[in-house]
Amino acid sequence: MNEIFLLKLGEIILKGANKRSFEDRLRTNVARRMRPFGDFKVSILQSTVYVEPENDQCDLEAAWDACHAIFGAVSICRSRPCEKNADAIFAAILAYLGDDLSAAKSFKVESKRSDKRFPMNSIQISQEIGGRLAEAFPDVPVDVHHPDYTVYVEIRDHAAYVHGPAERGAGGLPTGVGGRAALLLSGGIDSPVAGYMIGKRGVEIEAIHFFSYPYTSERAKEKVLELARRLTRYCGRMTVDVVGFTEIQEAIRDNCPDEYFTIIMRRFMMRIAERIALDHGCGCLVTGENLGQVASQTMQAMAVTHAVVDIPVFHPLIGFDKEDIVQLARKIDTLETSILPYEDCCTVFTPKHPKTKPRLMDVERVEKALEVETLISRALEKTEIVKVRYHG
Ligand code: ATP
Ligand code: MG
Repeated sequence: MNEIFLLKLGEIILKGANKRSFEDRLRTNVARRMRPFGDFKVSILQSTVYVEPENDQCDLEAAWDACHAIFGAVSICRSRPCEKNADAIFAAILAYLGDDLSAAKSFKVESKRSDKRFPMNSIQISQEIGGRLAEAFPDVPVDVHHPDYTVYVEIRDHAAYVHGPAERGAGGLPTGVGGRAALLLSGGIDSPVAGYMIGKRGVEIEAIHFFSYPYTSERAKEKVLELARRLTRYCGRMTVDVVGFTEIQEAIRDNCPDEYFTIIMRRFMMRIAERIALDHGCGCLVTGENLGQVASQTMQAMAVTHAVVDIPVFHPLIGFDKEDIVQLARKIDTLETSILPYEDCCTVFTPKHPKTKPRLMDVERVEKALEVETLISRALEKTEIVKVRYHG
């Protein structure tokens, strides 16, 4: 094949004894992501994943697009392999990068030799190839300090590779090396971004959604499933547990003072989420909470909300400005879906004057009016489990 993708490992390199298992996981993840696009050979060598199409039926453009969303790779590039000699390298550059080079204002060659048996060192390779290219492209001057375009030559064990500037990879750690988390996924802007942030740390995600039919519509549920689907581009396939929440909300409305509605509702979410999380082998809960954003996201309210669970609750967006969250949502392509105007269960029965500084003892007292365990069991019984996978 005359084109191959090179995915360079990032932080994984720092992981000492774990390096091997991290690499194996990344290789498996890449192979799985490439599968819809044809037959690819995926191997890993010298801190680089090689993704090689095995025949002409491969959809290279779609595969390349998918490479941008694979956690664990810091930089990615498309390159052409060739024999390890100056003539072959020069010919490969002419054929593969010639158009880019002739359009450039200036260029340089940067070489790396990881096969130390190769007779020239990296400086010699750059000089030799740079000299030949300068002759072939007399209108494009060499500029070693601030080149407009850089040609890369890599001499590796099995072949030489030539390519232009690399693109940024998704970064982070390979999905699966960091365990599994349960994401509380609403239809808002924040929680999908929170899921992406935790996913980026190598964590597999299962999602939980609280659904208040008929107060919230089927379309609101579809919207959440679509958000989960969009996350799978980065985080891999996941399940969404859709928990019927109506009875609990009505019980709170009917039995507790208005200003405690939201905080008690959120405590129910946490309790139920913890049980589902443990059931799915998840070690933590993840929310899109953000300090000071709404009444339920003050320090005091969050302390009361999280007091009902024992496993850690992570809120990766806790210190973000809304603008930064929106920017990330745009980047991961969830924003457009998040801003569809269907109501979330949080907006049903919202009190006019929620407590921003609730005290745990008061909340616990108010909650005594409810059959907490019975309500939780009934909600769990009514949970629908939906599997989502990436379709785009
Ligand atoms: P988002 O934009 O994610 O909806 P938000 O700023 O609207 O967040 P809240 O509605 O207070 O904030 O919710 C805080 C967090 O609680 C959400 O980020 C999400 O993790 C979780 N959450 C809220 N509503 C639901 C729901 N219906 N199902 C699952 N989780 C939810
Ligand atoms: Mg919300």
